[in-house]
Amino acid sequence: MTDALVLDRLRQAPQVARWIVRTLEEQGFETWAVGGAVRDVALGLPAEDWDFATRARPGDVQRLFRRTVAVGADHGTIGVLAKDRRLYEVTTFRRDVKPLGRRAIVEFADTLDEDLARRDFTFNALAWHPFREELVDPFNGLADLAGGVLRTVGDPEERFREDRLRALRGLRFAARFRLTATSETWAALVASVPQLGALSAERVREELMKSLADGERPSGALALYAASGVLAELFPELARLLDAPVAGGAVTRWERALLVADALSANGPLLRLSGLLAEVVESAGARDCVQMMVRLRFSGAETERATHWAESQPGVPPAGAGGSALRRWLAGVEPEARPGALRLALARARADRLLSGVDSGPAVSSVRALRREARTRPPLSIAELAIDGRDVMRLGLKPGPRVGEVLRALLDSVLEEPERNERERLLAEATTLIRTGAET
Ligand code: ATP
Ligand code: MG
Repeated sequence: MTDALVLDRLRQAPQVARWIVRTLEEQGFETWAVGGAVRDVALGLPAEDWDFATRARPGDVQRLFRRTVAVGADHGTIGVLAKDRRLYEVTTFRRDVKPLGRRAIVEFADTLDEDLARRDFTFNALAWHPFREELVDPFNGLADLAGGVLRTVGDPEERFREDRLRALRGLRFAARFRLTATSETWAALVASVPQLGALSAERVREELMKSLADGERPSGALALYAASGVLAELFPELARLLDAPVAGGAVTRWERALLVADALSANGPLLRLSGLLAEVVESAGARDCVQMMVRLRFSGAETERATHWAESQPGVPPAGAGGSALRRWLAGVEPEARPGALRLALARARADRLLSGVDSGPAVSSVRALRREARTRPPLSIAELAIDGRDVMRLGLKPGPRVGEVLRALLDSVLEEPERNERERLLAEATTLIRTGAET
């Protein structure tokens, strides 16, 4: 990675980056593109969010741009809404003021160097100036990236103490860029793990989800969570998978969970998380799964969805199951959750196929059969029956729980044989059910 190559890549930065820097510099405020976007583009990767560091104070930024959002005005960040309708964060240079042995307090600074020195890892302390075509890399972050090294800016113990989140960020970056921590950085990171409980649930959750969202191989960060002790400290429900064997196998549930997470690489982080939670459900029960998600303050909707996906897995019918077993499984999954539940089942079946010695897991062929069955769009709910509650009451049943019972019995019959879902046939069946008053 030569500087010339890196500068060449950075030249592809969006025009808005130039517009933001120009607008501020025309008023005399030195401004740089900094952080993750510079790092990613230098590596030849697409950049997500461009961030800027400037000598301008938040008030100046708000004055100079027409449309701004006070994202974090108290710590110097103003969001600038650009022509491309995206929000770019412009943050006043900051520096850490360190009362002895205490957490750093941030205050505004005058120089880029001070600002870069407070960033967490060497490769995150990069700045690029789009007009001067200058790259500032005071801690040799590019060399660390090229050499596969994770290293904090400054004393690692101090840096992990100032902000506990950095330990989790470090593991995520190590996995994403396939880096190995220096022995000092690793020792300090591991030593900081017992203090991670001080982090807010929101920050832990966001980091977990970012790690799970990372590229092709979420297992990288998860394996580092396990190796560093983060898993046991923050996610005990998952840590219990480390030595839980998969039935009939020499493989642990954790090993299978990692394969499943990777197999779901084309999917969102929530489904990948469900890949881990399915193992929790099978070994400890759904309560552990809900407990973990509630503790991490996932939304109610996310908790419900991820738990539902996970809970659907133990019941996946075995290979060779008949149509009615397939339909009964499909009917037990919320319609909107079905595509995810099927993808999860397929990922788990593929993981089992890869792992030798697992004899009780889901089979690829049964997931394919479920897919085929779903494509025939069989009726799977009471709402899809050819008759409804009013029809049942017209047959002489008073409103009450019995109506629902009859409808459930009809659905059961239709799940057995979808051809029965015809109005006349169901009316006849309902009449018989009502007359005989049969227990359903
Ligand atoms: P990504 O957005 O890909 O997760 P990033 O490096 O861009 O990675 P952000 O959280 O967007 O991460 O932060 C932008 C920059 O701010 C980082 O590159 C880093 O320089 C700095 N930064 C972020 N969080 C911290 C932190 N906890 N301690 C020190 N510096 C940080
Ligand atoms: Mg970023």
